[in-house]
Amino acid sequence: MSALLPVEEAQARLLALRDPLPTEQIGFLECLGRYTSDNVVAQRDQPAAPLSAMDGYAIRFADLPGPWTIIGESAAGTAPDRVTGAGEAMRIFTGAILPDGADTVVMQEDVAVDGTALKLTGEGPDARGRHVRGRASDFAAGDCLLPAGMRLTPGAIAAATMSGADQLAVGGRPRVAILTTGDELVQAGRAPAAGHIPDSNGPMLAAMLASEPAVVGLPHHVRDDREILSRILKDLARRHDVIVTVGGASVGDHDHVRGALEDAGGRIDFWKIAMRPGKPLIAGTIGDAVLLGLPGNPSSAFVTATLFLLPLVRHLAGARDPLPPIHQAPLATAIDGGGGRRDYLRARLETGRLTPFIGQDSGMTLPLAVANAVLIREIGAPPRDAGAMADYIVIA
Ligand code: AMP
Ligand code: MG
Repeated sequence: MSALLPVEEAQARLLALRDPLPTEQIGFLECLGRYTSDNVVAQRDQPAAPLSAMDGYAIRFADLPGPWTIIGESAAGTAPDRVTGAGEAMRIFTGAILPDGADTVVMQEDVAVDGTALKLTGEGPDARGRHVRGRASDFAAGDCLLPAGMRLTPGAIAAATMSGADQLAVGGRPRVAILTTGDELVQAGRAPAAGHIPDSNGPMLAAMLASEPAVVGLPHHVRDDREILSRILKDLARRHDVIVTVGGASVGDHDHVRGALEDAGGRIDFWKIAMRPGKPLIAGTIGDAVLLGLPGNPSSAFVTATLFLLPLVRHLAGARDPLPPIHQAPLATAIDGGGGRRDYLRARLETGRLTPFIGQDSGMTLPLAVANAVLIREIGAPPRDAGAMADYIVIA
């Protein structure tokens, strides 16, 4: 067991195989899911002037409870042309600039209007500045809005756009080739002959990568033939940053990924991890490409892709924190103690409690359809009762 690499060490070694890709400048409509490569710093105050947060009337708080004379109007998109003096009010709309002199907005629901005469009918504002968005109350010029290496979510894109920048510097998109191996595999929809099964890992890995900032081609498939595999690896390495193979990573007579990698002039960095499922994981390089060899059992492929493939892609794309975050939740049921490798148990998190599935055979696919979490059980961990806290990773 001591020869098996701990997961964290393997992750660190994998990410060290290649630096993040060069950065590029892109528009806001293209940057969903990309990683910022610089801090995004505000070039402007937001708002740049005090704005009304309501439809109503701009007044001086000191003039309450009124009455007032209406002297004009301030609508969104134009600057008010008058100062509001004592006893004066200006009609104002949400997002419009507060006129000089005014400091508070009274909502239109709280007043009655008769020509230019305005009087309070409701409670009115209870404090100076009510319903006013102060200058720079969202952020000020010079504020760091997003740190470098952060994933651009829709909300982050909104903040970055409001910063005043016209483009964003982001990490590149790694080109990823998926390569499934195995004589027993047939493409979806083809009738499997005796001993054949549908290739589920190809579509699964493509789906896992679909929301990542990566350029992912259709999965390739190759038979269990060392020579063909070696030729294809060599060819894919010229045009990709990452080659992820699945299957053929273990010690069977038909497991050719390591041999083919060496035949192709590649180099193995590590093989075999202290984890279950996923022990026979291969990492190496071939030319400039990183090769990640996942085991073929569907659950092994899923767990190793979560812990290694997605972090590798995110690292190359410029992520500051490429590893999946680890959370804690109480167990809904008791679990046995851990063994000689760290377990990643497919589980379901519901109403804040974790239930690991009873079937943990790594050859099973159905649990993957139901799992929304992977429960982490450390090497040699003691048995735990329901209610005890456990570590887990969220899976999509
Ligand atoms: P291997 O890692 O090649 O020894 O394969 C381990 C198990 O996973 C075998 O039962 C394979 O049939 C199965 N397997 C390998 N590749 C795939 C795949 N792409 N889709 C579904 N099952 C697979
Ligand atoms: Mg195989």
